[in-house]
Amino acid sequence: MRVYFDYNATSPVAPEVVDAMGRVTREVFGNASSVHHFGQQAKSVLDDARSAVAAAIGGDPSEVVFTSGGTEADNFAIRGAAAVFEPFDSLAAAPLAQGKSESPRGKRHLIASAIEHEAVLNTLKALARRGWKTTLLPVDQSGVLAVDRLREAITDDTALVSIMHANNEIGTIQPIAELAAIARAHGALMHTDAVQSVGKIPVDVRALDVDLLSLSAHKFNGPKGVGALWIKRGARVQAILTGGKHERNRRAGTENVPGIAGLGAAATLAMGKLSAEGTRLAVLRDRLEDGILAAVPGTAINGSRSARVPNTTNISFDRVEAESLLIALDLEGIAVSTGSACSSGTLEPSHVLRAMGLPVHRTQNSLRFSLGMYSTQEEVDRVIEVLPRLVEKLRGLTRKPLTVGS
Ligand code: PLP
Repeated sequence: MRVYFDYNATSPVAPEVVDAMGRVTREVFGNASSVHHFGQQAKSVLDDARSAVAAAIGGDPSEVVFTSGGTEADNFAIRGAAAVFEPFDSLAAAPLAQGKSESPRGKRHLIASAIEHEAVLNTLKALARRGWKTTLLPVDQSGVLAVDRLREAITDDTALVSIMHANNEIGTIQPIAELAAIARAHGALMHTDAVQSVGKIPVDVRALDVDLLSLSAHKFNGPKGVGALWIKRGARVQAILTGGKHERNRRAGTENVPGIAGLGAAATLAMGKLSAEGTRLAVLRDRLEDGILAAVPGTAINGSRSARVPNTTNISFDRVEAESLLIALDLEGIAVSTGSACSSGTLEPSHVLRAMGLPVHRTQNSLRFSLGMYSTQEEVDRVIEVLPRLVEKLRGLTRKPLTVGS
């Protein structure tokens, strides 16, 4: 029996999505920019997918721009918002994609949280090298951002606040609407990376009150390499890919029509079972958590158990190196993940768990279990059955405690 509990990394493509993509690949080869029948056929596929994505997030289809995934959507939001204030920068060579034509100047500050995905963190770092001031807001031990931290950090110099909706490692949900109100009061745009929340919990751009929202198809049973940035009408964001007038001049490049059809199908599928799946997965996740905590001594949940998506848990295993447990589980046919990155033999602690102020050893001994559409109770029970033996074995191999700090 193979168990896949790494849905936050990526998810299997649903048969309905494969069918939609197969049909479009076979039957619709036109370029969506062409005026003839073949082009219009492709355009209508894009229109349908745009409507499906818009419906999934409570937006208008005209506000949805297709991208090559979550990373590009995050880059587009942040670089695009920043470029409005860098009118002579090379990246800003494209005309203003949205909003009024004059270029406001002066804003040179960007804010994100310390637990963002690398797609956001490294984009901020790149802009910092170009002179942007950047602030990373801390989170508390539960992995949730206190809104007061934003109040303290924001100024009228802030161009954009980018805070993820749900965290990929621990699943915690941030108070986006409250944060957005603060951003708005200071004339800053509010972006949320909703890559880990769309398809898992209800996401409504109007209720969240954001200006920009990123999503990615492969996190909710769609294909890899396709996503979208939702741009609120009137939000001032500049195109970062220059070329043809695709996507209403907001993102150049011939659209990936079959991929986008897959994104649309995946969005529709996810919305159809959002509430039932949410309940089902929360039950499975809780069973997994309670089972592990009961069966394996020296375990603890990382992050808030309440404000989080229903499919994710992150558990620390005392005196075990996460990487070793991950490999041992893989040998048993169980796929999970660690937020820690192993580069050249040294285990880099998870930046998310570190930002939560967890002791160093817990940032290196934690595993993420993320469930999804095809997860079953049998799989949960298999993991609970296998884990105690593996943990005990690994602990037996460790002569001294792995604790390297507090
Ligand atoms: N943002 C978050 C929170 C993610 O979890 C991921 C993927 O892991 C991304 C962005 C990047 O998305 P993509 O893989 O579509 O580029």
